Amino acid sequence: MKYIEKREQPEELTRWIANTSNPNYKNFTKKTIKKKTRKKLLEDQGYICCYCQKRLVEYPKGGNVEIEHIKPQSKCTNIETVSYDNLLVSCDGNQRKNNDLLDDNDRHCNNYRQDKSLCINLLDEDCEKKIYYDFYGGIYAVNDDTKVEKTIKNLNLRILNSTRKAYIEGFALEKCSDEELNHFKNYFNNKNEEDGKQMYPEYAGVMINLLNQLG
Ligand SMILES: [Zn+2]
Repeated sequence: MKYIEKREQPEELTRWIANTSNPNYKNFTKKTIKKKTRKKLLEDQGYICCYCQKRLVEYPKGGNVEIEHIKPQSKCTNIETVSYDNLLVSCDGNQRKNNDLLDDNDRHCNNYRQDKSLCINLLDEDCEKKIYYDFYGGIYAVNDDTKVEKTIKNLNLRILNSTRKAYIEGFALEKCSDEELNHFKNYFNNKNEEDGKQMYPEYAGVMINLLNQLG
């Protein structure tokens, strides 16, 4: 997980809210505005999932991107369900693969969370201090905070851990000089141009956390 620095609400969304009677997520169906909103969320997050930090791709057919609500929709006022400050983008957490056949041990991110409360505020600059990773791909709550543990539970699925582990091992951080570690810190802390878009490297928050552990 990684702190998300949000910009202003897109003008098109502000205008749609102003011109719609009782704006809410159920009637937020205008494709062009939804697409614009999603695009800005992706840009703010540097095209990585707000939970697992996998790369988010928009194509084909919406790719693996899902719009996510910080405050669960069931607890929101109507306006909060479409307020930019309350929106994030996450990956689909496996839901496009025969979702009915999956149990909770196969779902993650948007697909696992659904309407559960989120116990880490990703818009808070200090949010990353609530969790840590190990070099084997595991994610843990600092001080065994049980609320945080609940929120990150399905980020410890075997499939996610093994992917993270392989990614971490690819950088062989234990063999790096101080200069190389600094280079990686810089690389993972900044958005880089890829396909003409400003993207964070995949798993940026994981790698920053591990690099900070190395000093
Ligand atoms: Zn994800």
